[in-house]
This record gives sequence, structure tokens and C-alpha cells, in this order.
Amino acid sequence: MKELLHSLGTAEMDELTAGLGHPRYRSGQLRDWLYRHPVGAWDGMTNLPARFIEQLQERYDIEGLKVVERRVSRDGTRKFLFELRDGQTVESVIIPMADHATFCLSSQVGCAMACRFCATARGGLVRNLKSGEIVQQVIALQQDLADDPLPGCHSAHPNVVFMGMGEPLDNLPAVASSIAIMLDPACLGLSRRRVRISTSGPGDGLRKLLDSELNVGLTLSLGGSNDSERKSIMPVPGRTSVSDSLDLAERYGKRIGRRGTVAWVLIAGKTDHLEQARNLADLLARRPFKVNLIPLNPLDDDDLAAPGQERTLAFQKVLTEAGVDAFIRASGGRDIAAACGQLHRRHQAS
Ligand code: SF4
Repeated sequence: MKELLHSLGTAEMDELTAGLGHPRYRSGQLRDWLYRHPVGAWDGMTNLPARFIEQLQERYDIEGLKVVERRVSRDGTRKFLFELRDGQTVESVIIPMADHATFCLSSQVGCAMACRFCATARGGLVRNLKSGEIVQQVIALQQDLADDPLPGCHSAHPNVVFMGMGEPLDNLPAVASSIAIMLDPACLGLSRRRVRISTSGPGDGLRKLLDSELNVGLTLSLGGSNDSERKSIMPVPGRTSVSDSLDLAERYGKRIGRRGTVAWVLIAGKTDHLEQARNLADLLARRPFKVNLIPLNPLDDDDLAAPGQERTLAFQKVLTEAGVDAFIRASGGRDIAAACGQLHRRHQAS
């Protein structure tokens, strides 16, 4: 399969253009067609010489994703199922916020982390996404917003979170190069402060992140307030102890000068005990994290459920009274199977 042109950063594209015997400004024109006015087809690149397009076509593809399903929730959440060139599918989501959109991206087809509450986990890992396939999710979501703007959303700058299918730290090279393309003003020009990786916290992945030059935000999904709780909910990342995951995330946050976020999925009877809230508060005392409490978005073939509102508020209260900033983040799109990996699974089963 040919490489996607969207996997190339500016320097590589300049080099490619020069290597094919064309002046450097052609590389800029090409990027305009890929990012500023995405055309999605070679014949739309009207100011490029036919010979240049022929040369590019021989080696590269520009269409890496096809929308197979688009669902819009009553709460405005939009969920997309994209088919890749090899027939695999991945999901992306547009989440409407007060004044901007948040794009939730996938980094892998499937996932090896086996988290108990996640539909993506059920099929295991199929493959890593290429950086161009990640970049194209952003372009497709931007295009969707251009065609059908979110009511009341005035900001043209989305937040981007790697919180869809896959463990982003298991595919760090492609995730890092896709982020470089997203942040490059000559490509998508997104703001670094608006990009965030959400990880289940495997130790080797966190160490690689710490050694990288990737200075984007980090959310660590903890899954338990001690090692055995964590292992029962998140078996693979649970091989790293809670304190090691927190230490590594804290060191990363200090290096980039940003407070980290701990994500805590609230599951009735499993992760909503007030004792767990007290343990979590102890764990986070004097550590620079805030907590996002996320009531479970239940799967349609599983008996795990979110706790009621009273329990959710009580859990939050324990944290805030202990001096930990804790926020309840409702998961959107319950009516459109927006839980991670659910649409993908339904598509596979059909
Ligand atoms: S929650 Fe995230 S890390 Fe865990 S299995 Fe699902 S996609 Fe993978």
C-alpha cells in the first residue's frame, strides 16, 4: 500500500518536491491543497503541474479514510466511523463544548490494553494507525464542522484529545509525527495547548513520553486507587504500579510546565466507593493533578453501569474536601453508541 501524503511533515515534503525536480514553492502549494483547502482528490489541485501530480500519484495516496457512518446525538455529539484503505475501521468524535469543539481521535485499530469497561478492548489490537491516518481524522472532522457548524461555537480552533480507540503511547512515533503536523503552522496550525494525550498509563509508554520532545497535555486514566483494584479494571496498564504511573506522569507534567489530569471512570460497585475516593485523595495529596470523574458510558452487552448522581457527587465531595480539584465530566452521545469502540464493534458484527 502506498504511503499517505499526509504522513509527511513540511521538511520531508520540501525534500520530496526538490527531489522530484520542482521548486520549493510547489511544496507549499501542495500543503495548501492538503490542509488549507483540502480537496481530497488529485484533480482538485489545480495550480500544480500535471507532471508533479503524476510523480506524486505514483508513490502516494491522499485518500486514507472514508466515512461509513456519521451519527449525531441529541446532545450534539457527532460520532464517525471511518473505513481505512485496508477495510479496517476506526472511530472519531466531535464533542461540542461551550465555545469550541473537541475532537476525540483514535491512534490504533483496536487496543492491547484490555480495559474491562471498553468496547475497543474486546477485539484486541489489530494495528497501529499511520500518522497520515491520524491527521486525516482531524481534516475530516474540520470539514464536517465547516459543512455543518456547531450551533453557538465561535472558535475555529478545536481541542484535540487522543482518547478514542487505542493506547496512544503504544503508537508513539505515529502519534508524535501526527501532532507535529497538526501543530505546524504550514499544515494544520493547531495550538499545542489544545492537544492532549490520554493514556491508560503503561510504564514503558510513559517513560518513552518522558524522553520525547512532545510537550502536549497528559491525562492519566488510573482505574483504581491501589494496584490490585487497578489490575482488575485495567489489566495491562495495571502491570505498572499506581505510584509508578503517577510518578512518571508527574515528572512529565513538571517537564512541560503543565498540571496533569487524572481520569477516573466511575463504575457502580467497582470504582465508586467513597473509600476509593479517600485513597485517591491521599495518593494525589501534594501532587500536581486535577481529577476528571467520568461516569461510565455503558456498553450495550455488558452489565457495568454508571453510578447514580448522588454517589457521583459524594465521590467528588470527598476529593474536593481533601483539597483535590475534581470535576464531573459527563460522557456525551449515550444515544449514539459513543462509548469508545462501540460503533466499530457493531460494524464488525453486522
Ligand atoms: S480504554 Fe483506552 S487503553 Fe483501555 S482498552 Fe480502551 S482504548 Fe485501550
